[in-house]
Amino acid sequence: MKAAVLKTIENLEIKEIPKPSPSPGEILIKIKACTICGTDIRVYHHGHKHIRFPRVTGHEVTGEIVEVAEKVKDYKVGQKVAVAPAIPCGNCYYCQRGMQSMCLNLKAIGYHYNGGFAEFMVVPEDAVKNGCVNLLPPNISFEEGALAEPLACAINGQELSQIKLGDTVVVVGAGPLGCMHIQLARARGAVKVILIELSPSRIDFAANFAKPDVIINPSYDDAIDKVRKETQGRGADKIIVACPSGKAQEDALKMVAPRGIVNFFGGLPKDKPFIKFNSNLLHYGEFYVVGTHGSAPQHNKLALQLISSGKIKVEELITHRLPLSKLEEGIKLAESGEAMKVVIYPE
Ligand SMILES: [Zn+2]
Ligand SMILES: [Zn+2]
Repeated sequence: MKAAVLKTIENLEIKEIPKPSPSPGEILIKIKACTICGTDIRVYHHGHKHIRFPRVTGHEVTGEIVEVAEKVKDYKVGQKVAVAPAIPCGNCYYCQRGMQSMCLNLKAIGYHYNGGFAEFMVVPEDAVKNGCVNLLPPNISFEEGALAEPLACAINGQELSQIKLGDTVVVVGAGPLGCMHIQLARARGAVKVILIELSPSRIDFAANFAKPDVIINPSYDDAIDKVRKETQGRGADKIIVACPSGKAQEDALKMVAPRGIVNFFGGLPKDKPFIKFNSNLLHYGEFYVVGTHGSAPQHNKLALQLISSGKIKVEELITHRLPLSKLEEGIKLAESGEAMKVVIYPE
């Protein structure tokens, strides 16, 4: 089969590799769509502690089941599925308490196992057993289904941020995830959603697509001041920092309302992971700071339902569609900010 093999850092080759065959408990799917994620870009440039090269990456995957090995009971050939890439063990301290995204033995498709930038992919037994294989609702496309994975990460983020009816929410960053957060905050009952973004093209995109109530561009406006003005001086109830910027995290701590919640949703670059803040802001403001990353199988199921019901729109986020042979071009488009979401098709 054809696959994009990351041989080592920044060395990606499209080549023929043996078609995998599923062992007992596993499923083989024919990939239909795999979208490029920010992590794919990071892995391409810097590798990852859980990746041993050579590796087929890609974890936002949908496809059709073409083979079901023995011991698999709940799936059959021909079913269209979206695969949640983070595979919990089901047995550890966190899994047993319903926090599968914190699983102590977490493995992931595209990291520990070959992923979706290929023609076929084996779904490991633990993924099959622990609810990672979700049937695609009949009214959504393979490419929309692939976007259930990033949406699942946003859902996990907003659960921990406790976004609720009546909240004023600030989203920092209008990338694909920022746009999902804006829609999701509204779906959870936020009465005002404020977007902070520097890039004029991303602002245009978000204004038309995700439609935040207020847009602040810190190139022209003092974002902290403006958020305070929009909230009668209180600050925002919830802030989601969906960009990899330490400055944005520091600013978020200055614009959150007392007893509010700030979520550091975007990770910082490896070489710049430190921020500075006035600890007394926290002492007197009694606000909470959480960080979130990834998702659990139930978030992926819910993401598919939200897309299927039309509550969250994802199709417009797809700006580029490329064949597997142009994966590297897709990574560059996503990296430059020119693309929102790029879908890779195996043929
Ligand atoms: Zn992703
Ligand atoms: Zn576990």
